Amino acid sequence: MKKFFKIMVAVLLLATLVGACFAFTACNNNGDDNTLIVATNCEFEPFEYLNDDGKPTGIDMDIAAAIANELGMKLEIKDMAFDSVVGSVAAGTCDIAMAGLTVTEERKQSVNFTQTYFSSSQVVIAKTGDSILDIVVEDPENKEELSAAIAQVEAMLNGKRVGVQNGTTGYSYVSGDSDDYAGVAGATAVGFTSGALAVQAMLAGNVDYVIIDKVPAEKLIAANQGTSVSNVVLTGEDYAFGIAKNNTELLNKVNAALEKLIENGTIEEIFQKYGYTSGLGD
Ligand code: GLN
Repeated sequence: MKKFFKIMVAVLLLATLVGACFAFTACNNNGDDNTLIVATNCEFEPFEYLNDDGKPTGIDMDIAAAIANELGMKLEIKDMAFDSVVGSVAAGTCDIAMAGLTVTEERKQSVNFTQTYFSSSQVVIAKTGDSILDIVVEDPENKEELSAAIAQVEAMLNGKRVGVQNGTTGYSYVSGDSDDYAGVAGATAVGFTSGALAVQAMLAGNVDYVIIDKVPAEKLIAANQGTSVSNVVLTGEDYAFGIAKNNTELLNKVNAALEKLIENGTIEEIFQKYGYTSGLGD
Protein backbone atom coordinates (compact mmCIF):
# COMPACT_ATOMS: atom_id res chain seq x y z
CA MET A 1 0.00 0.00 0.00
CA LYS A 2 2.84 2.36 0.96
CA LYS A 3 4.43 1.73 -2.41
CA PHE A 4 1.12 2.59 -4.10
CA PHE A 5 1.05 5.99 -2.35
CA LYS A 6 4.64 6.67 -3.32
CA ILE A 7 3.79 5.96 -6.94
CA MET A 8 0.70 8.19 -6.70
CA VAL A 9 2.75 11.06 -5.27
CA ALA A 10 5.33 10.62 -8.04
CA VAL A 11 2.61 10.63 -10.70
CA LEU A 12 1.00 13.74 -9.23
CA LEU A 13 4.35 15.52 -9.07
CA LEU A 14 5.05 14.64 -12.68
CA ALA A 15 1.59 15.84 -13.73
CA THR A 16 2.17 19.16 -11.95
CA LEU A 17 5.52 19.59 -13.67
CA VAL A 18 4.09 18.80 -17.09
CA GLY A 19 1.20 21.18 -16.39
CA ALA A 20 3.62 23.92 -15.40
CA CYS A 21 5.56 23.40 -18.64
CA PHE A 22 2.40 23.73 -20.68
CA ALA A 23 1.37 26.83 -18.77
CA PHE A 24 4.80 28.32 -19.46
CA THR A 25 4.55 27.53 -23.16
CA ALA A 26 1.10 29.09 -23.29
CA CYS A 27 2.50 32.36 -21.96
CA ASN A 28 5.33 32.26 -24.42
CA ASN A 29 4.45 33.05 -28.00
CA ASN A 30 7.03 30.59 -29.29
CA GLY A 31 4.47 27.96 -28.41
CA ASP A 32 2.16 28.99 -31.27
CA ASP A 33 3.81 30.35 -34.35
CA ASN A 34 0.56 30.82 -36.14
CA THR A 35 -1.00 33.37 -33.82
CA LEU A 36 0.03 37.01 -34.00
CA ILE A 37 -0.08 38.22 -30.40
CA VAL A 38 -0.58 41.98 -30.29
CA ALA A 39 0.34 44.06 -27.24
CA THR A 40 -1.79 47.18 -26.90
CA ASN A 41 -3.54 49.50 -24.47
CA CYS A 42 -7.20 50.09 -25.29
CA GLU A 43 -7.32 53.59 -23.81
CA PHE A 44 -6.30 55.48 -26.93
CA GLU A 45 -9.29 56.21 -29.13
CA PRO A 46 -9.38 56.21 -32.15
CA PHE A 47 -6.31 53.94 -32.42
CA GLU A 48 -7.38 51.35 -29.83
CA TYR A 49 -10.30 51.39 -27.44
CA LEU A 50 -13.00 49.05 -26.21
CA ASN A 51 -16.30 49.25 -28.09
CA ASP A 52 -19.70 48.98 -26.37
CA ASP A 53 -19.32 45.20 -26.28
CA GLY A 54 -15.92 45.50 -24.60
CA LYS A 55 -14.11 44.40 -27.75
CA PRO A 56 -10.79 46.01 -28.80
CA THR A 57 -11.59 48.36 -31.70
CA GLY A 58 -9.87 51.13 -33.63
CA ILE A 59 -7.44 51.97 -36.40
CA ASP A 60 -4.55 49.87 -35.04
CA MET A 61 -6.86 46.95 -34.30
CA ASP A 62 -8.17 46.94 -37.88
CA ILE A 63 -4.61 47.18 -39.19
CA ALA A 64 -3.68 44.25 -36.90
CA ALA A 65 -6.49 42.16 -38.41
CA ALA A 66 -5.44 43.10 -41.95
CA ILE A 67 -1.79 42.21 -41.26
CA ALA A 68 -2.72 38.88 -39.60
CA ASN A 69 -4.90 38.13 -42.61
CA GLU A 70 -2.02 38.90 -45.02
CA LEU A 71 0.30 36.64 -43.02
CA GLY A 72 -2.29 33.85 -42.76
CA MET A 73 -2.13 34.05 -38.98
CA LYS A 74 -4.72 34.05 -36.23
CA LEU A 75 -4.92 37.21 -34.16
CA GLU A 76 -4.85 37.64 -30.40
CA ILE A 77 -5.10 41.07 -28.77
CA LYS A 78 -3.59 41.55 -25.31
CA ASP A 79 -4.88 44.70 -23.65
CA MET A 80 -2.43 45.86 -20.98
CA ALA A 81 -1.09 48.99 -19.28
CA PHE A 82 0.61 51.19 -21.89
CA ASP A 83 3.90 51.14 -20.00
CA SER A 84 4.02 47.31 -20.35
CA VAL A 85 3.48 47.24 -24.13
CA VAL A 86 7.07 47.65 -25.36
CA GLY A 87 8.51 45.46 -22.57
CA SER A 88 6.13 42.58 -23.32
CA VAL A 89 7.31 42.53 -26.93
CA ALA A 90 10.98 42.84 -25.98
CA ALA A 91 10.50 39.93 -23.54
CA GLY A 92 8.79 37.78 -26.19
CA THR A 93 5.45 37.35 -24.43
CA CYS A 94 3.78 39.26 -27.29
CA ASP A 95 4.82 39.45 -30.94
CA ILE A 96 4.05 43.03 -31.90
CA ALA A 97 3.30 46.34 -30.20
CA MET A 98 0.43 48.17 -31.90
CA ALA A 99 -0.51 51.05 -29.66
CA GLY A 100 -0.25 54.41 -31.41
CA LEU A 101 3.38 53.85 -30.58
CA THR A 102 5.83 56.63 -31.36
CA VAL A 103 9.24 55.70 -32.71
CA THR A 104 11.84 56.90 -30.20
CA GLU A 105 15.57 56.36 -29.82
CA GLU A 106 14.98 55.07 -26.30
CA ARG A 107 12.50 52.41 -27.50
CA LYS A 108 14.81 51.46 -30.37
CA GLN A 109 17.13 50.07 -27.74
CA SER A 110 14.57 47.37 -26.89
CA VAL A 111 12.53 46.80 -30.09
CA ASN A 112 12.79 47.21 -33.85
CA PHE A 113 10.21 49.39 -35.54
CA THR A 114 8.31 48.70 -38.76
CA GLN A 115 7.91 51.46 -41.28
CA THR A 116 5.88 54.40 -39.96
CA TYR A 117 2.18 54.80 -40.78
CA PHE A 118 1.04 58.05 -39.14
CA SER A 119 2.46 61.40 -37.98
CA SER A 120 1.48 62.76 -34.62
CA SER A 121 2.33 65.38 -32.03
CA GLN A 122 1.87 66.17 -28.37
CA VAL A 123 -0.69 68.89 -27.56
CA VAL A 124 -2.00 70.55 -24.41
CA ILE A 125 -5.55 69.99 -23.16
CA ALA A 126 -6.73 72.80 -20.89
CA LYS A 127 -9.93 73.89 -19.23
CA THR A 128 -11.89 75.97 -21.74
CA GLY A 129 -11.04 79.64 -21.22
CA ASP A 130 -7.51 78.98 -19.89
CA SER A 131 -5.06 81.57 -21.22
CA ILE A 132 -2.71 78.88 -22.59
CA LEU A 133 -5.34 78.46 -25.33
CA ASP A 134 -4.78 82.09 -26.40
CA ILE A 135 -1.43 81.04 -27.85
CA VAL A 136 -2.45 80.17 -31.39
CA VAL A 137 -0.33 79.19 -34.37
CA GLU A 138 -1.71 80.59 -37.64
CA ASP A 139 0.67 78.74 -39.95
CA PRO A 140 2.14 75.50 -38.55
CA GLU A 141 4.46 75.31 -41.59
CA ASN A 142 6.11 78.53 -40.42
CA LYS A 143 8.92 77.14 -38.25
CA GLU A 144 9.69 80.45 -36.53
CA GLU A 145 6.09 81.09 -35.59
CA LEU A 146 5.75 77.54 -34.31
CA SER A 147 8.89 77.57 -32.18
CA ALA A 148 7.94 80.95 -30.68
CA ALA A 149 4.53 79.52 -29.77
CA ILE A 150 6.09 76.37 -28.29
CA ALA A 151 8.38 78.55 -26.16
CA GLN A 152 5.34 80.53 -24.92
CA VAL A 153 3.42 77.34 -24.08
CA GLU A 154 6.44 75.88 -22.27
CA ALA A 155 6.85 79.08 -20.27
CA MET A 156 3.24 78.73 -19.12
CA LEU A 157 3.82 75.10 -18.14
CA ASN A 158 6.64 76.17 -15.80
CA GLY A 159 5.52 75.54 -12.21
CA LYS A 160 2.47 73.58 -13.34
CA ARG A 161 1.34 70.00 -12.77
CA VAL A 162 0.77 68.24 -16.06
CA GLY A 163 -1.26 65.03 -16.33
CA VAL A 164 0.18 62.48 -18.73
CA GLN A 165 -0.24 58.80 -19.45
CA ASN A 166 2.43 56.59 -17.86
CA GLY A 167 5.21 55.48 -20.19
CA THR A 168 4.23 57.75 -23.07
CA THR A 169 6.13 60.29 -25.12
CA GLY A 170 3.82 62.86 -23.49
CA TYR A 171 5.35 61.87 -20.16
CA SER A 172 8.87 62.09 -21.61
CA TYR A 173 8.14 65.44 -23.25
CA VAL A 174 7.25 66.91 -19.85
CA SER A 175 9.81 65.18 -17.64
CA GLY A 176 12.63 64.52 -20.14
CA ASP A 177 14.35 61.23 -20.96
CA SER A 178 17.81 60.02 -21.84
CA ASP A 179 17.53 60.19 -25.64
CA ASP A 180 14.61 62.05 -27.12
CA TYR A 181 13.27 64.82 -24.88
CA ALA A 182 14.90 67.57 -22.85
CA GLY A 183 11.82 68.05 -20.65
CA VAL A 184 9.86 71.23 -19.90
CA ALA A 185 11.64 73.42 -17.34
CA GLY A 186 9.75 73.66 -14.07
CA ALA A 187 6.83 71.42 -15.13
CA THR A 188 5.88 68.35 -13.08
CA ALA A 189 4.63 65.25 -14.91
CA VAL A 190 1.84 63.49 -13.03
CA GLY A 191 1.30 59.97 -14.39
CA PHE A 192 -2.07 58.30 -14.99
CA THR A 193 -2.99 54.94 -16.50
CA SER A 194 -5.03 56.68 -19.21
CA GLY A 195 -5.52 60.08 -20.81
CA ALA A 196 -9.18 59.94 -19.74
CA LEU A 197 -8.19 59.73 -16.06
CA ALA A 198 -5.72 62.58 -16.54
CA VAL A 199 -8.49 64.78 -18.00
CA GLN A 200 -10.79 63.92 -15.09
CA ALA A 201 -8.00 64.87 -12.68
CA MET A 202 -7.68 68.21 -14.48
CA LEU A 203 -11.41 68.86 -14.20
CA ALA A 204 -11.20 67.97 -10.49
CA GLY A 205 -8.36 70.48 -10.08
CA ASN A 206 -5.66 67.92 -9.27
CA VAL A 207 -3.52 68.79 -12.30
CA ASP A 208 -3.38 72.01 -14.32
CA TYR A 209 -3.10 70.61 -17.84
CA VAL A 210 -2.97 67.33 -19.76
CA ILE A 211 -0.47 66.58 -22.52
CA ILE A 212 -1.26 63.78 -24.93
CA ASP A 213 -1.21 62.89 -28.64
CA LYS A 214 -3.27 65.20 -30.87
CA VAL A 215 -5.92 62.86 -32.30
CA PRO A 216 -6.73 61.15 -28.97
CA ALA A 217 -6.78 64.67 -27.43
CA GLU A 218 -9.58 65.64 -29.83
CA LYS A 219 -11.56 62.55 -28.77
CA LEU A 220 -10.99 63.37 -25.10
CA ILE A 221 -12.20 66.97 -25.33
CA ALA A 222 -15.28 65.82 -27.26
CA ALA A 223 -16.08 63.47 -24.37
CA ASN A 224 -15.36 66.00 -21.58
CA GLN A 225 -17.33 69.23 -21.46
CA GLY A 226 -15.36 72.29 -20.40
CA THR A 227 -12.09 71.16 -21.99
CA SER A 228 -10.33 72.43 -25.11
CA VAL A 229 -7.21 71.54 -27.03
CA SER A 230 -4.37 73.91 -27.90
CA ASN A 231 -3.50 74.16 -31.58
CA VAL A 232 0.26 74.37 -30.84
CA VAL A 233 1.91 71.11 -31.91
CA LEU A 234 4.70 70.58 -29.41
CA THR A 235 6.53 67.62 -30.96
CA GLY A 236 6.92 65.83 -34.29
CA GLU A 237 6.36 62.07 -33.91
CA ASP A 238 5.75 59.06 -36.11
CA TYR A 239 3.81 55.93 -35.21
CA ALA A 240 5.09 52.47 -36.10
CA PHE A 241 4.73 48.93 -34.77
CA GLY A 242 7.38 47.43 -32.48
CA ILE A 243 8.76 43.91 -32.87
CA ALA A 244 11.36 42.02 -30.78
CA LYS A 245 14.95 42.66 -31.87
CA ASN A 246 15.62 38.96 -32.43
CA ASN A 247 12.52 38.50 -34.61
CA THR A 248 13.68 40.04 -37.87
CA GLU A 249 11.73 37.38 -39.75
CA LEU A 250 8.45 38.77 -38.43
CA LEU A 251 9.68 42.34 -38.93
CA ASN A 252 10.29 41.64 -42.63
CA LYS A 253 6.94 39.90 -43.03
CA VAL A 254 4.99 42.67 -41.32
CA ASN A 255 6.81 45.36 -43.32
CA ALA A 256 5.98 43.55 -46.56
CA ALA A 257 2.32 43.17 -45.51
CA LEU A 258 2.17 46.82 -44.47
CA GLU A 259 3.69 47.92 -47.75
CA LYS A 260 1.04 45.97 -49.65
CA LEU A 261 -1.79 47.30 -47.46
CA ILE A 262 -0.58 50.87 -47.99
CA GLU A 263 -0.29 50.38 -51.74
CA ASN A 264 -3.68 48.77 -52.21
CA GLY A 265 -5.37 51.49 -50.16
CA THR A 266 -6.44 49.28 -47.22
CA ILE A 267 -4.64 51.40 -44.62
CA GLU A 268 -6.21 54.60 -45.95
CA GLU A 269 -9.65 52.92 -45.95
CA ILE A 270 -9.18 51.95 -42.32
CA PHE A 271 -8.25 55.53 -41.34
CA GLN A 272 -11.25 56.86 -43.24
CA LYS A 273 -13.60 54.40 -41.54
CA TYR A 274 -12.76 56.22 -38.29
CA GLY A 275 -12.99 59.68 -39.86
CA TYR A 276 -9.26 60.33 -40.37
CA THR A 277 -6.68 60.24 -43.09
CA SER A 278 -3.36 58.41 -42.77
CA GLY A 279 -1.41 61.14 -44.52
CA LEU A 280 0.54 58.34 -46.24
CA GLY A 281 -0.46 59.60 -49.67
CA ASP A 282 0.95 63.11 -49.01
N1 GLN B 1 2.29 58.01 -28.99
C1 GLN B 1 2.48 57.99 -27.58
C2 GLN B 1 3.65 57.08 -27.24
O1 GLN B 1 4.06 56.31 -28.06
C3 GLN B 1 1.24 57.56 -26.80
C4 GLN B 1 0.76 56.18 -27.11
C5 GLN B 1 -0.38 55.71 -26.23
O2 GLN B 1 -0.69 56.30 -25.21
N2 GLN B 1 -1.00 54.65 -26.61
O3 GLN B 1 4.15 57.11 -26.16
